[in-house]
Amino acid sequence: MNTIIKNIIKKNKCLPGDVFSFNSNDKTITYIPEEIENENGSLALLHEIAHMKLDHFSYNYDVELLELEHEAWEETRKLAKKYGLKINAEHIKECLDSYDKWIKKRATCPKCGEYSLQRNRNTFGCFVCDCYWKVNEIKDREVRKHILNSKS
Ligand SMILES: [Zn+2]
Ligand SMILES: [Zn+2]
Repeated sequence: MNTIIKNIIKKNKCLPGDVFSFNSNDKTITYIPEEIENENGSLALLHEIAHMKLDHFSYNYDVELLELEHEAWEETRKLAKKYGLKINAEHIKECLDSYDKWIKKRATCPKCGEYSLQRNRNTFGCFVCDCYWKVNEIKDREVRKHILNSKS
């Protein structure tokens, strides 16, 4: 294993797992062992370190999440420089874009297709047709909508 990566893992509470994630409750990071050897995988690990360093925890609105992600990638760039790891700008852009798309999907009214407002963590409401819907949690990137009630 790359010694830089090895040291990062040793110095922080990092556990092998099947996703890259940061748990703000117990301040642990999970990483995918098979992937940390490649460039994007080591960036993913640094990205989770960035969340930890910035003391990120839960959010209520999707826009907050997007902000946290931008912050974390900014910090990831700094960390990569510090550790002398390669930065794949294209990959970073793709990650942010995928969040952007994910958020737009969640906020699009399942009845009329209008871009709408998030009411709370998992509930959205349409301005146009009064449709309300619930979305699944962040963990699952596949957006599923469940219509709560609708007047039209
Ligand atoms: Zn992140
Ligand atoms: Zn609508």
